[in-house]
Amino acid sequence: MTKVLVLGARFGGLTSAYTLKRLVGNKAEIKVINNSRFTYFRPAFPHVAVGVKDVDEITIDLTKALPEKGIIFQQGEVEKIDAKSGLVYYKKPDGNKVEEDYDYLIIAIGAHLATELIKGWEMYGYSVCEAEYALKLREKLANFQGGIIAIGSGPFYQGKSPRPKVPEHYVPVADAACEGPVFELSLMLHGYFKKKGMLNKVKMVIFSPGEYLSDLSPMSRKIVREMYKQLGIELIDNFRIKEIREKEIIDENGKKIESDLTILIPPYTGNPALKNSTPDLIDDAGFVPTDTNMVSLKYENIYAVGDANSITIPKLGYLAVKTGTIAAQHLANRLGVQTKIDQYYPTIVCVADNPFEGFGVAVKDDTWYKGSISIADPSPLNHLKKELFTKYFMWTKGDMALEKYLASW
Ligand SMILES: Cc1cc2nc3c(=O)[nH]c(=O)nc-3n(C[C@H](O)[C@H](O)[C@H](O)COP(=O)(O)OP(=O)(O)OC[C@H]3O[C@@H](n4cnc5c(N)ncnc54)[C@H](O)[C@@H]3O)c2cc1C
Repeated sequence: MTKVLVLGARFGGLTSAYTLKRLVGNKAEIKVINNSRFTYFRPAFPHVAVGVKDVDEITIDLTKALPEKGIIFQQGEVEKIDAKSGLVYYKKPDGNKVEEDYDYLIIAIGAHLATELIKGWEMYGYSVCEAEYALKLREKLANFQGGIIAIGSGPFYQGKSPRPKVPEHYVPVADAACEGPVFELSLMLHGYFKKKGMLNKVKMVIFSPGEYLSDLSPMSRKIVREMYKQLGIELIDNFRIKEIREKEIIDENGKKIESDLTILIPPYTGNPALKNSTPDLIDDAGFVPTDTNMVSLKYENIYAVGDANSITIPKLGYLAVKTGTIAAQHLANRLGVQTKIDQYYPTIVCVADNPFEGFGVAVKDDTWYKGSISIADPSPLNHLKKELFTKYFMWTKGDMALEKYLASW
């Protein structure tokens, strides 16, 4: 039987695996390899940090969820892919090293959060990108007595060459990989400290490695700037953070910002397992360039989806699900199941939620890709939609089949 290996089990990997299984049934053996037996609804990590959700509410046990749907699960840390020989090298939790072959491979191991590039990270850095970071920040916030909170993204080390085979304007040059969580946190923390009666003791400073939220239209960016002015939040552009100290952060040019608590979306680089793989599988930053069907430019039997693919700019869950769906549809056709293949078209779709003040800002914007949609809609309904989306993800154990109707990113 045709063997499909899926590497990674969050938005991209789960969508690919579930969709492919639904389409091809028993025509292929589908096996997912992920470095943890658990996966999480990542957009709710900020909610964990501010204490409105617990980690177990957003955790899925892959050893149960995937076999229930006829998909094999193997826990393992992928070390490299030998694309020429068709082998994946990974380490099992017991330390045993395995090399496994495949007929088709779907790479969905995401990008790397390069905290090692930030001096002082271990001592003074806080984040929300993984469960353990969100819990550490939760404790810090609970004990925070007041002061300056700096929130921002590290630089994005985007590949330049080879470029993916998609229209050039689909892949803009980005200074930050994903600034949505920064915007969301700035709103959430305003609500958090207001509820605690501490707003007068906290000053928030938002920093960006380029122009903040440059993936949104100039009109939406202007609205955010005005909103920040009204909330007393300072915004500093072109600050490529290099170091975090106890009371300040420093950028590559030596510029400083005072900070008592620094919350960072770390720099994004290519996944080390991909950097360690067959060199012509990846671009110069360690992301996989593909065509619009998510097929590798060099290896016809390899797909890449989500954050690991060089076409997804910015690094968004919405785009991970879109690319995962397309890869599965394309592969189903190759396996003899005729099905429509969606067309890849990038759009920024996300909701910045503020559970304390009961509203969310829903963003839909394709102006970065020369489109004309530019919506930034603050409404109580968007908060409820994000709640519903979280529940939907958990009910289906990460199966985004009804994404179009029930997901509010
Ligand atoms: C705090 C935060 C909030 C966000 N909120 C939103 C939002 O509201 N809306 C939105 O659209 N996007 C959001 N995003 C972006 C979104 O989470 C990512 O774009 C999305 O998770 C990418 O999915 P992925 O499956 O491609 O990669 P990932 O989510 O990075 O998943 C990769 C998977 O592979 C595993 N893995 C990694 N390396 C290896 C290895 N070597 N071996 C085996 N397994 C490995 C990981 O454990 C993980 O399970 C947010 C991001 C962050 C950080």
